[in-house]
Amino acid sequence: MLSERARAISASATVELSARVAEFRRKGVDVISLNIGEPDFGVPDAAKRAAVDAVKNDFSKYTAVDGILELREAICAKLRGDNHVEYGAGEICVSVGAKQAVMNSLLAVCSKGDEVILPVPCWASYMEMICLADATPVFVKTDDAQGYALDLDAIRRAITDRTKAIIINTPNNPSGAVYSEASLRGLAEIAVEHDLYVIADEIYEKLVYDGERHFSIASISKDVRDKCILINGFSKAYAMPGWRVGYSAGPKDVIKASKAIQSHMTSATCSISQKAALAALIGPQEELCEMVAEYDRRRQYMMKRMRTLGGMRCEMPKGTFYLLPDSSAYVGKAWGEKVIESSMDLANYLLEKGHIAVVPGEAFHIASKLRVSYSNSMENLVAGMDRMEEALNALR
Ligand code: PLP
Repeated sequence: MLSERARAISASATVELSARVAEFRRKGVDVISLNIGEPDFGVPDAAKRAAVDAVKNDFSKYTAVDGILELREAICAKLRGDNHVEYGAGEICVSVGAKQAVMNSLLAVCSKGDEVILPVPCWASYMEMICLADATPVFVKTDDAQGYALDLDAIRRAITDRTKAIIINTPNNPSGAVYSEASLRGLAEIAVEHDLYVIADEIYEKLVYDGERHFSIASISKDVRDKCILINGFSKAYAMPGWRVGYSAGPKDVIKASKAIQSHMTSATCSISQKAALAALIGPQEELCEMVAEYDRRRQYMMKRMRTLGGMRCEMPKGTFYLLPDSSAYVGKAWGEKVIESSMDLANYLLEKGHIAVVPGEAFHIASKLRVSYSNSMENLVAGMDRMEEALNALR
C-alpha cells in the first residue's frame, strides 16, 4: 500500500487540466488555452547566449548545492536594488524553481502538527506542500470587495499556539491582487508579535500595472527581515519556466537547512540554467519591459470583453496575467439536460462546448470563480473571448 502521505496528496488541478487540453488536441479539437500559467514570450537573448556558451564550455559539473556564487551575488544585488533589502550570498539558496524554494522553506521551518496560515484564494501547490511537510494548512479569507486584500483581523483570529508561518503571494495567483504596503506593514507587526515566519512568494513581482508598486515585506526592518523567507525565480519575469531556476532569501539558519534538505533531494539546479539565469538578471531588461506592456494591453482588452459578458463580475486586477471573474450568475443554468452546479461544471462546459480552457476557482480554494489567463497571443484572446461569449449565451 502507498504511504499515508502519497494517498493524501492530489495532483495539481492545473496540470491535470493541461493534460485534458492535450487530449482534446490529440483528437483534433482546436482548444484555446486561457488556462496558461506561464509566459508566452521568448527567453531573453542574453540568457540564450549564456546557455549556449555554458554548453560549449562544458559547464556541466555539479555546482554548489545553493547555486553558483556569481548568481547568488547577482540575486543579492537585485534584492538590494529592486526590493531594498540586504542579504549576503550565504542567505540565498538557488533551487529547482520557486516551487522547490517554497517546499524547502516549509520543510525547514515546520514540524509535525504545526499550522501554516494561507490567505485564499491562493496557488494550488501551497496546501499540498504544507501537508507534505506534515503541517496543517489554515485557510483565511481575503477581502474580495477590496480586490482580495489581506484581511489582517481574519489572520489574527486564525493564529493559535501551533501557528508557525504564513504564506503570502503578492502579486497574487490567481486574484491578481497586489498587497498594499500598509497591509504588509500590518502583517509584519503580527508576524513579529507572534514569532511567525512569513514565506513571501514574490514570483510575479514584475507583472504589475497602473503604476502599482510591488512592496517587499522583508524591506520593513531588520526584525521583520529576520522572520521573512522571500521566494522568487525566473519562470515569470524572464519567461524561463522550463529552465527551473528559483530561489529563497532568508535568515542564515533557514537557508542553511534549506540547502541541506536540497542536497539530499536534487542537489543544485541545472548548471546551464544557472548561467542563463545570471545573464537574464544582469543583462538588458528591455524584453521584460516590453512583455509587461503587452500584458497590460491584453489585460485591458480582456477586461473590456469580460464586462460585456453581463454574467461575469470581474474587478480589474493590478498584477500577474490572470483575471478571476465571479461566474456564479451561470450556476443553475442548463446545457441540454445538464445543469451547471459549480465553477468546475462551468469550466468543463466551456472546454467541451466552447473549446476554451479556463481553470475553475476550486483549484485555488475559491468556489464560483474562474481563473482566466491572458498569457496567450492577442489573436487567441480575441477568438477565445468570442467563443466564451457564444458558449455562455447558449446556456439557458
Ligand atoms: N509560485 C506561484 C504563485 C506560481 O504561480 C508558480 C507557478 O505557476 C510558482 C510559484 C512556481 O514557480 P517555478 O516555475 O519557479 O517553480
